[in-house]
Amino acid sequence: MTTVGILGGGQLARMLALAGVPLGLKFLVLDPSAESCAGQCAPLQVGAFDDEAALAQFASKVDVVTFDFENVPAASAQWLAERVPVYPNPQALGVAQDRLSEKTLFGELGIPVPAFAAVDSREGLDAALARIGTPCILKTRRFGYDGKGQFRIKSPADAQAAWDALGAQAGTVGLIVEGFVAFDREVSVVAVRGRDGAFKAFPLTQNWHVDGVLSASLAPTQASQALQAQAVDYARRVAERLDYVGVFALELFCQGETLLANEMAPRVHNSGHWTIEGAEVSQFEAHLRAVLGLPLGEPAMRGHACMLNWLGQMPDATGVLDQPGGHWHDYGKSPREGRKVGHATLRADTAQALSVALAAAGEALSRQAQVQPVLERLARS
Ligand code: AMP
Repeated sequence: MTTVGILGGGQLARMLALAGVPLGLKFLVLDPSAESCAGQCAPLQVGAFDDEAALAQFASKVDVVTFDFENVPAASAQWLAERVPVYPNPQALGVAQDRLSEKTLFGELGIPVPAFAAVDSREGLDAALARIGTPCILKTRRFGYDGKGQFRIKSPADAQAAWDALGAQAGTVGLIVEGFVAFDREVSVVAVRGRDGAFKAFPLTQNWHVDGVLSASLAPTQASQALQAQAVDYARRVAERLDYVGVFALELFCQGETLLANEMAPRVHNSGHWTIEGAEVSQFEAHLRAVLGLPLGEPAMRGHACMLNWLGQMPDATGVLDQPGGHWHDYGKSPREGRKVGHATLRADTAQALSVALAAAGEALSRQAQVQPVLERLARS
């Protein structure tokens, strides 16, 4: 029996384990917390990612290693890779951990990006603002996620406040300024590349964020063939350059027919959760197939799907479970403000049927604000 080791024990590891059991796989999850929610579905080894003894014990028990968490120290990923196959490779992980190196890579690959500049000092921030202009966003280069570690600068007068908020991190995780993109919408490509170089992408997904955190995803999203092909081509370029193996997401801003790359996530991604019920193979199964060298499967859609994220605490499930094609995912986490605790997916054969189910679920859950933009988009399809 093959044992897959997963670094990080959050909901992504949990859903990987759930997808892998039918494939006959065993799992071992390494996480510093004994409360990790993946531990409810798979054996959990409690240990720090940079503890060599813990890594050695982990490596001795697994056949292949992958990630639920992209901020595993690069040195730990490298240490493991010298002992057991690690996918995606530590170099790809390293690029995706740093906003500056990933944006530089996108630029080298001819993928448009927002204007950006590294910032090392208070004077450097002024110089970056003079070059890029405002509005813009000051972000930490590393360890930022879900809109954390970001400060929006509306005018040069905000520079000091931005520095007060994030300047202390210039010497640790590093800072970057990015031009603010007045996008029409945000989309992502969730794609998978196999050990043999085979490449496939799930249909383009449209995403809505609230305070920098994903709130809802819809697939397929109305987009020209050219735009979809462009997005997939960008994802393919990134995957090939990094010799990437596994699932990843490329997040893009869409302005008319122009796409600008925001960032890549070197792992299964929240905007791909709808694939569990909405695609022929889920992103979780596709990732496992890729890291094990199996055929990738078909990322084709089954109708239309919308995913809604639950933050803080789980709502009552009935409003979703009442719908045909309503699916519930409770990550088994204790409630905490802003924490991703679960999601729901509504799937239907037509856009119209999805609208009806979504409107009814939104009403039952008092989530009209969350579902309204999705309903508006569906009304146009
Ligand atoms: P990130 O952590 O970089 O994915 O940012 C979280 C969210 O903040 C994105 O999904 C966007 O909604 C918003 N955002 C980030 N960077 C920019 C940007 N350069 N221009 C406009 N909005 C942005």
